[in-house]
Amino acid sequence: MNGIRLLSNEFRLLSRSAFARLVVVLTAGFAVLGTRAVEYSNDLQFHGMGRTSLTMSLGAAQYGAMAGAALFAMLTLLVLSRDRRQQSGAIIEAATGHGPVTAARAGALLVLGLVTTLVCLVAALVAHHVQTTASCEVLPYLFSLGWILLPALWFATLLAATLDLVFENLDISFLSFGTMYFLGFTTPNYLLRWVQTGASVSSDFGGIEPMGRLVIYNRLFWLCLVAGAVLIGFWCRRRPGFTLPASLARNAGRGLVPIAALLLLAMAAWVYRHEPYLFPADSAFQRNLPRTQQAWLETVECHARLRPEAKTLAVDAHYTFGKDKVPAQVEFITNAGLRIDTLKINGADAAWSYVPHTDRVTISLPPGNRAEVECRYQGHILYPAPGGFPGYITDRSVYLLENSHWLFEPLVQARGPIQVSGSVTAPAHLTVVTPGRLESVTQDGQTRTWRFAATCPQLALGLFAAEYARETLKVGPATVEFFFSPRHESYIRAAKITNHIRDMLGFYRQFIGSFPFDDMPLKIVETSVYKPGGHASLNVVTLAEYLLNRKEVPDPNTHPGFILRDLKILAHELAHEWWGSGVAIDESGAWSSEGLAEYVTYRYLASRYPLAIADAIPRGWQGSIAQRKYAYYRKDPEALARMKPALREKLLTGQAKGDAYSVLPVRLLKAEERVGKEVVRDRLAEVFRQHRGKTLDRQDFAAAIGPGVIDLEKEQP
Ligand SMILES: [Zn+2]
Repeated sequence: MNGIRLLSNEFRLLSRSAFARLVVVLTAGFAVLGTRAVEYSNDLQFHGMGRTSLTMSLGAAQYGAMAGAALFAMLTLLVLSRDRRQQSGAIIEAATGHGPVTAARAGALLVLGLVTTLVCLVAALVAHHVQTTASCEVLPYLFSLGWILLPALWFATLLAATLDLVFENLDISFLSFGTMYFLGFTTPNYLLRWVQTGASVSSDFGGIEPMGRLVIYNRLFWLCLVAGAVLIGFWCRRRPGFTLPASLARNAGRGLVPIAALLLLAMAAWVYRHEPYLFPADSAFQRNLPRTQQAWLETVECHARLRPEAKTLAVDAHYTFGKDKVPAQVEFITNAGLRIDTLKINGADAAWSYVPHTDRVTISLPPGNRAEVECRYQGHILYPAPGGFPGYITDRSVYLLENSHWLFEPLVQARGPIQVSGSVTAPAHLTVVTPGRLESVTQDGQTRTWRFAATCPQLALGLFAAEYARETLKVGPATVEFFFSPRHESYIRAAKITNHIRDMLGFYRQFIGSFPFDDMPLKIVETSVYKPGGHASLNVVTLAEYLLNRKEVPDPNTHPGFILRDLKILAHELAHEWWGSGVAIDESGAWSSEGLAEYVTYRYLASRYPLAIADAIPRGWQGSIAQRKYAYYRKDPEALARMKPALREKLLTGQAKGDAYSVLPVRLLKAEERVGKEVVRDRLAEVFRQHRGKTLDRQDFAAAIGPGVIDLEKEQP
């Protein structure tokens, strides 16, 4: 009873303070500003995204937390050090004991954090109504403000209170808190980001869950950590007339505080260690993984069962390899979250071993000209990093790019087309988009099974499912199936997206050659913003939702941003049907399908829109080449050798990626100057005609395009 009176007393005092009121107002002001956060983002492609409660509430929470955490820590340090500064500590100690007063003040600050969050909630909801007519859903606001903003304010208060108890010194406490604050929103480790969370947008298409689970886990970790820290603070609390070590020793002898503190810190360490969503050593970060040359893939049959309610999948995969007579070791890239249940080679149980610290397993193929590998595995999909998920499974959508490795990929030589067939079983409310062509759909109670078949130059299969609307288009002899969220249909119609798709495909048919697949439709699939941009694998092209959900319908003739971002991404991904899926260039250094896709994208946009706009594309290639050419680590040959291996790998990977998009198109433009646009176009069309369905390496490609266009020796970057 006494405690509650003390707390309400302290809260009344606090609410009369002008500084406390200013803290509330400033935090709410930042939250309101944050509802427009995507418009201030460094990532230009997010600008002009359709407004949704999810993204607006996330921005409000992030901005509110950024300002609020700093302000609450200042307020806490000032309030708790008041008596020391006014030297009234001794009087209070005599009257009630300093401990209860400190606890009541910290409690009052926590209540103020709750009040501030409620004020932010109301302010953000009002801001939502003022800024947009998009429907205002309260749940996303409750989630974002409740899981991001409120914990940030509370953690800031409790961390500051702990610092005050430990140091009893305002300057040191301010400095220490400042360090924790900057770490709290700059570290790349999402678990340590206690102020803000890693993601800057949340998906209207896929819902909050794929990103939200990281937010919740982060908060769980900090809850343990901060609770432990607070108890450490109380453990350090000075006894009157004692120094810190003496107080520590005396407090240690009394009660549960030290035991509980150590238990909570141990729990935090356990939560940190058992982080369940990421696998940072993912093969996505490796370049040029060695491929076994003694074996190649001939057929794959896979049966996948999606279990969105459990967020898992189970796969039965059957690989047939052609091989040299000698035994061969083959590595499979897996997803670290998927556990192998059984493995059979040529019908007999076989062993596998993990390559240490990777997501790859090695198996041994026995002597003979063929080998059959049957593998059964199941589990969760782990993300390689906290942003840009290559795969996730939720009730609302399933997004599995080939590089999530939901289908284990054997690292063998590329030789001839691979026959793939199989099925996907999913709850009946989901429309599954399979790779290749759909053979049949059958319903069995609450689930449906989608059977598919495909022929592909390499094993790179994506798998998608959501509650899609579908539109089928005919472009010449080709069938195009467009899968999109019904939520975004009005924008898709107004921006005439299907007209753009038709126009692009028509241009490529003329410019490069007939549609690459005779027996498969092209599938264009809307996916969530958690993987920005677009992606292409085999006959499936994905587009991140914001390309199909803009705030305003832009006029392509006057809106450079729309042409250079949205249409460019769409044109680039569609171009991959020819360069990438139709004919693949084995990625080696600067020579890749990416460069060819960029080149034909530019040719398309330059043929349709003012050159003053389209020419920004080749300028971008030049700029990115120059940036790498003059990089400091290129000028100083020893700089790379001195670097930490991880940083070196990151730089070189980034460089190879940048080169892949820019070097080849610049070479092709130079060739245009030398031999004429038509010659370059005709040679490329000829390469496509002759090599459809094949994978070419660098030499093959340069030889196929012919001497005089790109001279390999001279033009190698
Ligand atoms: Zn691409």
